[in-house]
Amino acid sequence: MIIILMGAPGSGKGTQSKRLVEYFGIPHLSTGDMLREAQKQPTEAGRKIAACIDSGRLVSDELILTLVEERLSHPACQLGCLLDGVPRTTVQAERLDELFRRKNWTLDHVIALCVPQAELVRRLLARATVEGRADDTPDTISQRMEVYQRQTAPLLDFFRSRGLLREVDAVGSPDDVFRRVLSMVNQQTQGSSTRN
Ligand code: AMP
Repeated sequence: MIIILMGAPGSGKGTQSKRLVEYFGIPHLSTGDMLREAQKQPTEAGRKIAACIDSGRLVSDELILTLVEERLSHPACQLGCLLDGVPRTTVQAERLDELFRRKNWTLDHVIALCVPQAELVRRLLARATVEGRADDTPDTISQRMEVYQRQTAPLLDFFRSRGLLREVDAVGSPDDVFRRVLSMVNQQTQGSSTRN
């Protein structure tokens, strides 16, 4: 089963991803987590990644696609995986589409977590005090929102036009949202087979 989880910063992708991968027993591929790990390297590449994350800009499509392709070739991903935070640009979406086709894999679900803008900002500012993420400052939050609207939100139409997009109201407790996500996935899975 391949699932793409989409949503603006603060929509709860990380929280829902953890639940989904546990429920379905599939690996969690989070480009944000991979980049936060990669930025620790004391190299020019590590510093460039840190600069992008800290300013709320996206890292290059090439870097993302190399990381993702490498991770998807792991044997653990043969039975599927959950993509969290990728694709974020049209180039990433198109290249992933090609990759899945090459591997003869079916993208089963694209789930978009929908949360109003004011609630997103409130959550991110609250997270800043709890988790201390370097990119949860007011300036970076507004940059990340702008980047999401300009570069990532158009992908909703990309997946909608392929009949793959499932939009879930993601306001409420993590348990409530997870129930909605699961019922959406189960509705879709009924009648359609998953990848063998
Ligand atoms: P996230 O944890 O998904 O919010 O990602 C944190 C940061 O990592 C983002 O603000 C970007 O700077 C970078 N990032 C994560 N995923 C991607 C991606 N697919 N494309 C480009 N940059 C990304």
